Amino acid sequence: MMHTSPLNDFLALSRAHPHHLAPFSESLPNGAHIQVWDTGVLCIEPHTPGNKDIVISCGIHGNETAPIEMCVRLLADIVSGRLVCAQRLLLIFGNLESMNLAVREIEENLNRLFCGEHAKGKVRNKERERAAKLEHYVARFYQARSGAVRLHYDLHTAIRASKYEQFAVYPYMASHRYSRDLLAFLAAADINTLLLSHAPAPTFSCFSAQQFGAESLTIELGKVMPFGQNEAGRLGQLQRCLSAELSLLNWQPPALKVAKMRVFQVTQEITKQSTQFCFHFAEQVANFSDFAPGTLLATDGALAWHVAEYTEAVVFPNAEVAVGHRAALMAVVTELTDKMLC
Ligand SMILES: [Zn+2]
Repeated sequence: MMHTSPLNDFLALSRAHPHHLAPFSESLPNGAHIQVWDTGVLCIEPHTPGNKDIVISCGIHGNETAPIEMCVRLLADIVSGRLVCAQRLLLIFGNLESMNLAVREIEENLNRLFCGEHAKGKVRNKERERAAKLEHYVARFYQARSGAVRLHYDLHTAIRASKYEQFAVYPYMASHRYSRDLLAFLAAADINTLLLSHAPAPTFSCFSAQQFGAESLTIELGKVMPFGQNEAGRLGQLQRCLSAELSLLNWQPPALKVAKMRVFQVTQEITKQSTQFCFHFAEQVANFSDFAPGTLLATDGALAWHVAEYTEAVVFPNAEVAVGHRAALMAVVTELTDKMLC
């Protein structure tokens, strides 16, 4: 018999109450509890959980629909009992208000407001309120127990096309050591391009990594499309891997073949200083497009940015960001050696 529950369309329920949803919980026939903590935020507590505490977040940017739709499918499998969670899960639909308006953000980029950034200055807005709440929920989830392996997959899509359609951003690691298991998971999900960050940033994945020692990634899953216009198949392998990791206690992805991973290291960040800022390449350039050494990339009044001594690839170029924000990252091809993996 079909289980009728407000959880059958949790996203619609959340979008109908984009500021706040009163907590409630339900039991699943398999003994797990689903606890709704707030709008867009729910926690699944299996009866006897395995040793992984998994956060999956999507819709931190409201118009990045493909991963939102994938999370809806994942949740539908859990609510219907097709997928039985063996691991604790915190599932987050990030920015409901901006989803309702089909925009990336209402007032501010939510993915630059973590690590306490939301509390800086006198500005108060919806994204800042949401960032503070999401930090609190992630803390509550991870701090409910100790000793578990903490994972966080923050799922996005990019504004522009990408030479490598799906890629992951590894938050800055002061140790310069990267999790072999996490990279093996990526490879199993058919995501074979990795960008290593050069500095801490106030992103959601950096927050969980820094504050809770989580193995975290920002995962970019193709280009922004309106709801209903994504091909589910493109995220099929990621959904299968997440389902397996959630439901099978001892699931392991195939061993990592590090040579098969395309790895980039961020070398410079281009920051917009004024309204005079402009790129010296075409607006529509795809992520990971290459530029030869010495190429002029951008100017801002008297300031200029050039490619340094090796070919650099551009990632996330966006001249429309607010003054003071990142307009692009430049990265060089690198290799992960064995001693960088742990
Ligand atoms: Zn995004």
